[in-house]
Amino acid sequence: METVNFLSSHGDLRIDASFKDITTIKMGGKIKYLVSPFDLNRLRLITTYLKEERIPFKVFGRGSNMICGSGDYDGCIIRLEHLNHYHFDKDSVEVEAGMMVPRLANVLASQGLSGLEFASGIPGTIGGLVYMNAGAYKKCMMDVVESVTVLKDGELCTLSRDEVQFSYRSSIFHKHPDWVIVAAKIKLTKGSVNEIKELMADRLRRRKATQPLDKPSAGSCFKNPEGDFAWRLIDAAGFRGYEYHGIVVSNKHPNFITNEKDGKAEDFIATANLIQAKVKSEFNVDLKMEVEIFNC
Ligand SMILES: Cc1cc2nc3c(=O)[nH]c(=O)nc-3n(C[C@H](O)[C@H](O)[C@H](O)COP(=O)(O)OP(=O)(O)OC[C@H]3O[C@@H](n4cnc5c(N)ncnc54)[C@H](O)[C@@H]3O)c2cc1C
Repeated sequence: METVNFLSSHGDLRIDASFKDITTIKMGGKIKYLVSPFDLNRLRLITTYLKEERIPFKVFGRGSNMICGSGDYDGCIIRLEHLNHYHFDKDSVEVEAGMMVPRLANVLASQGLSGLEFASGIPGTIGGLVYMNAGAYKKCMMDVVESVTVLKDGELCTLSRDEVQFSYRSSIFHKHPDWVIVAAKIKLTKGSVNEIKELMADRLRRRKATQPLDKPSAGSCFKNPEGDFAWRLIDAAGFRGYEYHGIVVSNKHPNFITNEKDGKAEDFIATANLIQAKVKSEFNVDLKMEVEIFNC
């Protein structure tokens, strides 16, 4: 009761919510505490409290890269929905981690500010995109991030782009799961509103034509191996259209594994493992997961 009172006085609290409600692939068990802190200071109070009480916690963005197990999670998921403010500073924008990237890209486009077009169709938050060094069309977050503000051990600090140690779909935050990204500074250049909007529309058309956006998924399941494409190897190994307990290897894009009939993370993982084993035996390539498995 004490924890419920504490969390609900510092954020919007839901008890026994489900990972199905907070992941784009819509799977997973129940969450003991799901909280959205009202502001940055409440976020600091909540993380300090959870550490003191030894209650496990994890920050989620839009859950668009997450595969969560069917078991219940006896901890706290923190979402930063209320941390979604931004302000312009000369040729950059400082934006809080809970801001949805497609929304930010639209705001920037309407002001003729270029830089984030490549990410405008990635359905995650600034925090999640920085964590993953997300990218598309040969660009990624490390190309545009100047600095990142982080909450670690109850204190705020700012990391330069180099200190974030970006690499392909990775960053320093993978090594520090208790650090919370609270904001990022993104550099921009002046451009034409029409050209920026047209580029974003073109990217979206390409996504719609090549990705199963009408089905629940977590985006690409595997990272592309050096010099090749995961989708090509999955296809060549014969998995296009493969189905297992409602988990489907997309016909449209074989690196997207969709949840079409209330599938479970355990079946998703079994499918991914089967693909990895066949791709290894046929092509001697180790496919590495891009999606993150949690609470399995
Ligand atoms: C249809 C579709 C298309 C996609 N296309 C792309 C694409 O083109 N390119 C690409 O790179 N990815 C793509 N993805 C994958 C996904 O959107 C990205 O990985 C994105 O960066 C995840 O953001 P999120 O906010 O949803 O993070 P989540 O999935 O919620 O979390 C991902 C990780 O980030 C951590 N995290 C999130 N926020 C914070 C924070 N504030 N502080 C610390 N850690 C945090 C979480 O703990 C977790 O470990 C796609 C996904 C879908 C469903």
